[in-house]
Amino acid sequence: MAEFIMELNEEQKEVRDWLHGFAADVIRPAAAEWDEREETPWPVLQEAAKVGIYSLDFYAQQYFDPTGLGVPTALEELFWGDAGIALSIVGTGLAAVGVLANGTEEQIGTWIPQMYGDADDVKLAAFCSSEPDAGSDVASMRTRAVYDEAKDEWVINGTKTWVTNGGIANVHVVVAVVDPELGSKGHASFIVPPDTPGCSQGQKFQKHGIRASHTAEVVLDDVRVPGSCLLGGKEKLDERLARARERAGHGGTERVKNAAMATFEASRPAVGAMAVGTARAAYEVALEYAQTREQFGRPIIDNQGVAFQLADMRTRIDAARLLVWRASWMAVNGKPFTAAEGSMSKLYASETAKKVTAQAIQILGGNGYTREYPVERMHRDAAIYTIFEGTSEIQRLVIARTLSGVPIR
Ligand SMILES: Cc1cc2nc3c(=O)[nH]c(=O)nc-3n(C[C@H](O)[C@H](O)[C@H](O)COP(=O)(O)OP(=O)(O)OC[C@H]3O[C@@H](n4cnc5c(N)ncnc54)[C@H](O)[C@@H]3O)c2cc1C
Repeated sequence: MAEFIMELNEEQKEVRDWLHGFAADVIRPAAAEWDEREETPWPVLQEAAKVGIYSLDFYAQQYFDPTGLGVPTALEELFWGDAGIALSIVGTGLAAVGVLANGTEEQIGTWIPQMYGDADDVKLAAFCSSEPDAGSDVASMRTRAVYDEAKDEWVINGTKTWVTNGGIANVHVVVAVVDPELGSKGHASFIVPPDTPGCSQGQKFQKHGIRASHTAEVVLDDVRVPGSCLLGGKEKLDERLARARERAGHGGTERVKNAAMATFEASRPAVGAMAVGTARAAYEVALEYAQTREQFGRPIIDNQGVAFQLADMRTRIDAARLLVWRASWMAVNGKPFTAAEGSMSKLYASETAKKVTAQAIQILGGNGYTREYPVERMHRDAAIYTIFEGTSEIQRLVIARTLSGVPIR
């Protein structure tokens, strides 16, 4: 097991500086334009693909860094540049991870390249789980996948919502119910290949923030996919369902829930790292502004009322980063999350981003409230972190249940 370190090594610093350069030179200057356009920033994605940032190889390298600091460092820098554009760059990764985690080697080799495309023909992927009536309550999912044995095909029907890259992705990864009796244990994930009949974009959402990231409904109307599109394969699914049926009533539900929770605990620090990036960006703008803006004949930072806010902002950001780094290190090294440390990092970092970006607006006064300065955009963007990948309330629920062993509602 790698030791927990709180300082990046030379190689990690080089990667961080390279990403920071891309975020500062390419992402940040494009942020206001794509926020207004509310569209996927294809030219930025192409640029990111050209230099190797939009690629599975890059994320795999960061992911397998045994210190656990590769992914959070990369995400912090990209989201420091701009959250909406950065989500467009990393959104495909959510679907790719779904395939990496559950797919066979053949599925990984076939589908992941089609998710990214290449620098001349950039492609996207989408991970479709949430539904209009199944957000926090994943077990209420209704999208159904039924096996047509005669044709070795799965037939999928349902509507997914709030899907990042939904409908514009080349490859969609869809979670669907295969056995309604088993609740969330009766779910399976499917690849919906490019141009599959019956798979279409529904409503595209106009959003409060991260507007450079496309979010839409995905409608699945008698979508037929070959048996080979079931992630992990039929044999593995049948075994898993048989085990789940056997365990039902023997405390097995708890064990399966625990396995699912371990997966979430491992992915939540990634959202925490995004939030740290946005918070740090707003803090830096506020610090510089406070040092240069003069009122009453002196820089506003000369007032404790302003300086103390900056002290609190920086303290919270550093604390959030430490929680994120700890949880990322635990995930990579397989340390059990006995106090829901992954949820803690996501909860604290996302609430920090909301608070710090609001404080930044306050410090910039009237300018902070206008689109002449980036902090109002950062504040709008920050609001997503307490919602997706489990809301703050759900994180508190998970932490409290883990600490107490009580099924708190
Ligand atoms: C921009 C954006 C991008 C997204 N991208 C994706 C994507 O790519 N793929 C995907 O599948 N999903 C995606 N989502 C969906 C996201 O994961 C859900 O919105 C999120 O899980 C919350 O679900 P909900 O919106 O249904 O809220 P609800 O579950 O309806 O919650 C509403 C409120 O009730 C509270 N609440 C609910 N249950 C409890 C409880 N038991 N105790 C206390 N409070 C509770 C919540 O905390 C929240 O405050 C995205 C959402 C957005 C906005």
